[in-house]
Amino acid sequence: MSEFTCMKCGAVLKTDEIALYRKLISRGAQKYSCLKCLAEYLNVTKEDLEKLIEYYHRTGVCSLFAKWDDEDQKDQTLK
Ligand SMILES: [Zn+2]
Repeated sequence: MSEFTCMKCGAVLKTDEIALYRKLISRGAQKYSCLKCLAEYLNVTKEDLEKLIEYYHRTGVCSLFAKWDDEDQKDQTLK
């Protein structure tokens, strides 16, 4: 499995960061940015984006995010 890095700062990306980028910017994106750079770009805070990721996981409304059925899954994903 290849590792993706932020196109702006070079940080190694988590699956959720890539999924959120696809969700908010472009489904077909080949390059992504980390939450920090994406937050700057969208003029929101990193915390806003983290909440959004959590929202998608909890509700399961977006196919890019695996649905969380319990808190254990949340802990595993965010570490
Ligand atoms: Zn970055």
